Amino acid sequence: MELNVAAELKLAGKPAKRHFEEELGPIDFGGHELRFIMPVCVDITYVFDGEGFSVSGVLSSRLRMNCTKCNEEFDQDFSVDFSERFIKASEEEADELECYPFSGEMLDLDRMVLDLIILNAPLYGLCKPDCKGLCPICGCDLNTMQCSCSSSVKNANFASLEELAQLLNDEEEV
Ligand SMILES: [Zn+2]
Ligand SMILES: [Zn+2]
Repeated sequence: MELNVAAELKLAGKPAKRHFEEELGPIDFGGHELRFIMPVCVDITYVFDGEGFSVSGVLSSRLRMNCTKCNEEFDQDFSVDFSERFIKASEEEADELECYPFSGEMLDLDRMVLDLIILNAPLYGLCKPDCKGLCPICGCDLNTMQCSCSSSVKNANFASLEELAQLLNDEEEV
């Protein structure tokens, strides 16, 4: 995504707006794959203040994710409000000031967009707030079926609680 700012460089203080949409391939991040199923949309307001550009707006898209509990695929929207600054400087100088560099009459937004996605995209999520997950014993999806493991686990727990109560009673009697 590139922003031609030739006009704005001559009009300090006058904000301008742009809308970008771009299809992004999967992004690998920390062992996760971010999979976009909608174009990444960026609505930008930018203004030149004589030295640099204040760039703010909203980035949004939709990701296909796997539920942390049951591993089913689901789609999740995400959007990020941002406010960044671009200055006419080398990459190192800009990095030091926590800004993005630009030169000439173009703002290259790709790095900012990638940073915003990596820092803000959800990596974990549930297919639904009350996802029951998988049975830890047989691995069946407890959202769609009820196995018999869970009831025997419960019984086992009750049994051990009764045993514990019995042990405590025994101790008291001593
Ligand atoms: Zn789930
Ligand atoms: Zn089970």
